[in-house]
Amino acid sequence: MSPEMLLQTAPAAPFSSTEFDDYVVHSYARFPLMLERGDGCRVWDVEGREYLDFVAGIATCTLGHAHPTMVDAVTQHIRKLHHVSNLYYTREQGELAKWLVEHSCADKVFFCNSGAEANEGAIKLARKYAHTVLQIENPIVITANASFHGRTLATITATGQPKYQKGFSPLVPGFRYVPYNDIAAIEQAIATLNHPTRQVAAIMLEGLQGEGGVRPGDRPYFQRVRQLCDEQGMLLLMDEVQVGMGRSGHLWGYENLGIEPDVFTSAKGLGGGIPIGAMLCKASCDIFQPGDHASTYGGNPFACGVALSVCRTLAQPGFLENVQARGEQLRAGLRAIAQAYPNWICDVRGWGLINGMELHADAEITSPEVVNAAMAEGLLLVPAGPKVVRFVPPLIVTDAEIRQALQAIENALAAISLAKTQ
Ligand SMILES: *Cc1c(COP(=O)(O)O)cnc(C)c1O
Repeated sequence: MSPEMLLQTAPAAPFSSTEFDDYVVHSYARFPLMLERGDGCRVWDVEGREYLDFVAGIATCTLGHAHPTMVDAVTQHIRKLHHVSNLYYTREQGELAKWLVEHSCADKVFFCNSGAEANEGAIKLARKYAHTVLQIENPIVITANASFHGRTLATITATGQPKYQKGFSPLVPGFRYVPYNDIAAIEQAIATLNHPTRQVAAIMLEGLQGEGGVRPGDRPYFQRVRQLCDEQGMLLLMDEVQVGMGRSGHLWGYENLGIEPDVFTSAKGLGGGIPIGAMLCKASCDIFQPGDHASTYGGNPFACGVALSVCRTLAQPGFLENVQARGEQLRAGLRAIAQAYPNWICDVRGWGLINGMELHADAEITSPEVVNAAMAEGLLLVPAGPKVVRFVPPLIVTDAEIRQALQAIENALAAISLAKTQ
């Protein structure tokens, strides 16, 4: 039976969000929208209403929905061999690792299933490196305020935002925080922590802070951090979970900063929506031995085969140029809109197709309000904190779709404005 026929014959059994909430743990604040199907940059809810999807599963659906290349890869790999564990070799895992190494500064890859798990791997690698190479007994990893690294215990500890840590103590020891993009502060922190004996094993940073408000890293800051790491033997770990895989207009976020990390992590966009994560490292810190780290699902032939189809599509001529051009188009359009609302919007920023529109801290509107108003106009967006609206569409987004999104934002802001004056 063809997929189209399956869709037609499946009965549209009603299932309400109320019933959903009877059974699913309430750990998410969900929008009142039940989605059913997608195609390209569009999704449809159960009532058949169409939305332009500028969330893309939170910067994940690199090729949008139901992309023919992914449909083919999914079908091919589920038919052939989908999972056997890491007791054995599979071609797909080797091929994806080879592609990633050939298209990045890394020499080796470890596969897992999510961003948090990839970051756990990076933190474990940094600790083992500290114990075996740097001879540090109680290694410290420095991370940034307003960062986001995941929801496991170690990664909420790495995340420099108390709201993610509240209620989950005791946290994991061995983390310290510095303000982002602040050279003097990180110099000071390292000088203190490494005196009289060295304690800092690694510095872990996002090249652009995503959840923390779409804040791009400064080139001079990252170049200084790279230099400090080189001088003192510390590892530079970069979390590329959100900004990597072409989203920044370059394949990797660090390319925007003119530096190379020792270790970096990928997930979200890597599988185009199929769960996969990866920790990538230079040969100089490839120190895991058999038994040191593992993941049952990690790098199975299904996930790797699909991710490889995403990677190869990204590498096609013109793909990243589209990301850059659409990003510029979006930012220019948002800046024009911002001029009409100077009391609300204070900044528009981002790289490639990860962009944020920031509202004044004391503006009478919040990012969830803008997101809800945009939804009413048929555009899906996601906040990055209470005052930043985030735009992370599929990387295949077209000129016409950007124009449609800008129109929807304009309509949404006009609707909010009208409601406020009534
Ligand atoms: C989403 C995200 C993570 C966590 O990824 P999960 O797949 O949800 O575990 C980690 N780091 C960054 C920068 C992210 O954006």
